[in-house]
Amino acid sequence: MTTLTPGPDSGALHEGDFTDRKLKLAVWKFASCDGCQLSLLDCEDELLALTSRVDIAYFLEATRSVQPGPYDVSLVEGSITTHEDRKRIQAVRRQSRFVITLGACATAGGIQALRNGRDLPEFASMVYAHPEYLDSLDTSTPIASHIHVDFELRGCPVDKHQLLEVLSALLMGRKPAISHHSVCVECKLRGNACVLVSAGEPCLGPITHAGCGALCPSYDRPCYGCFGPAEAANPAALSRRLLGVAPPQDPTIDVPRDALVKAARLHRLLQTFNTLAPEFREEAEHHG
Ligand code: SF4
Ligand code: SF4
Ligand code: SF4
Repeated sequence: MTTLTPGPDSGALHEGDFTDRKLKLAVWKFASCDGCQLSLLDCEDELLALTSRVDIAYFLEATRSVQPGPYDVSLVEGSITTHEDRKRIQAVRRQSRFVITLGACATAGGIQALRNGRDLPEFASMVYAHPEYLDSLDTSTPIASHIHVDFELRGCPVDKHQLLEVLSALLMGRKPAISHHSVCVECKLRGNACVLVSAGEPCLGPITHAGCGALCPSYDRPCYGCFGPAEAANPAALSRRLLGVAPPQDPTIDVPRDALVKAARLHRLLQTFNTLAPEFREEAEHHG
């Protein structure tokens, strides 16, 4: 989702909307680890500056003080995994002009979506002494599967600079300037040696959304795709490179034939944090 598109009931934000009043913000948690909310708390100095422009009306991770809706902007962390949360997200939408989802759980189901299509009761019986007390859906699904979402921020967790850019854009009534290119672009800008080329590591940087500043390759580790798919990603081409397979259109082309991973590992690489991102899921299905 590349534009800030107002939902059917949301009414667009305009420049000057918040010159004589504060933006009323709510932060909601669904099935998640709280890491994306911690990224917001981690803004510290910037949060203090923001409080002159933003009224943090609902943010249970930060304060027990709660103001009722409606809210100008709701930030939503986590995926939908219970009957109760399926209803709660509808209430969040009704109370919010804009809904922004935070992170891999909210935008692509999160690591908890690995249970989708598997035997949930069997999993639950392995973990809980009394699984009969659980009220859980068979699936973990992203927020956009349930309500209109105005903007999605990727990452596990989200990058605090991207988060601040979205909040600043909302305050100014403009579209957030979030780059949609791949981690490789950030990696090259940092002058890193490519771990895929130089060390044969299975790096997902070519198909992964920018935002982290190429964190893992900067420490000589391959990217494992926690920011989800980049715009116009070509997972099939990367799969061929990782599996050491020549492109089908020209089998004589001189590509390295050494396989860096086997198909089963490639499947696992593509099915971690962003399990339900279509670009990753569809490619993983070819190798599962
Ligand atoms: S996206 Fe990652 S950091 Fe954010 S809540 Fe989910 S698991 Fe935690
Ligand atoms: S190390 Fe990974 S992210 Fe960096 S250029 Fe190579 S493939 Fe791209
Ligand atoms: S390099 Fe890849 S796995 Fe590492 S933080 Fe960035 S997007 Fe996530």
